[in-house]
Amino acid sequence: VEDLRKVYKLRKGNFGHEDFVAVEGATFTINRGETLALVGESGSGKSTIAKMVLQLEKPTAGTIKVAGRDTSKFTARQLFELRRTLQPVFQDPYGSLDPLHNIGNTIMEPLNIHKIGDQASRKARVLELLDQVALPRELATRYPNELSGGQRQRVAVARGLALKPDILVLDEAVSALDVLVQAQILDLLAELQRDLGLTYLFITHDLAVVRLIADRVCVMQQGRIVEQATTEEVFESPREEYTQNLLAAIP
Ligand code: ATP
Ligand code: MG
Repeated sequence: VEDLRKVYKLRKGNFGHEDFVAVEGATFTINRGETLALVGESGSGKSTIAKMVLQLEKPTAGTIKVAGRDTSKFTARQLFELRRTLQPVFQDPYGSLDPLHNIGNTIMEPLNIHKIGDQASRKARVLELLDQVALPRELATRYPNELSGGQRQRVAVARGLALKPDILVLDEAVSALDVLVQAQILDLLAELQRDLGLTYLFITHDLAVVRLIADRVCVMQQGRIVEQATTEEVFESPREEYTQNLLAAIP
């Protein structure tokens, strides 16, 4: 990600639009198999970066390269293919899981969209994914409201894995969970990363979580990356006063 910028047009009464700079000059690299955390307070631009990386929002300026290829030059077909290798896992599965779809169909949906295999092989893949995130297979016929928060988050991870992606963009994926369940999901993510060689862009406002999962950290403030370092460096010797204050807020 190089010199990324995002300007949103905000409606201003009936008199046209006002520019709002949500992300400015963001530059970072995530190496294969690594976890890069984006941290920062609410509104600092983390999800905006996630959406641009996921190709859901178009950058106003700057470049995003995946395996060295500039995604802005991709054809529609290439973008469709890219989305297969680059999957989102969002916060609170109440928000991202459809309450009217059972768990099996929720996990299967990406396979349907990308037309992977026939119905029988899709069903088999769903069971395999439930195993992978350590959920009982019986859950396939249940609905999101019949699951605990931690179980729902596991479903969201399973769905993110369905297409065998290389990169997961996890936006506040553990934020709605209590500390114990958070730790279980983080363990699961670490294990999946080891087994499948996954690369994570991990977004959170919680530095305590960063310490458990990230290799490197970008600290964001008002749309800018104000500090970028290894997790150890950030915790041992934060350079920016802003980061020091964030650290001081950890219980
Ligand atoms: P949080 O921790 O609360 O999720 P965030 O760091 O993810 O915050 P963003 O969602 O990236 O923050 O939002 C950054 C800024 O851009 C905010 O001020 C937000 O109001 C604004 N913003 C986000 N999406 C849009 C949009 N589609 N149109 C206009 N403004 C937007
Ligand atoms: Mg956000």
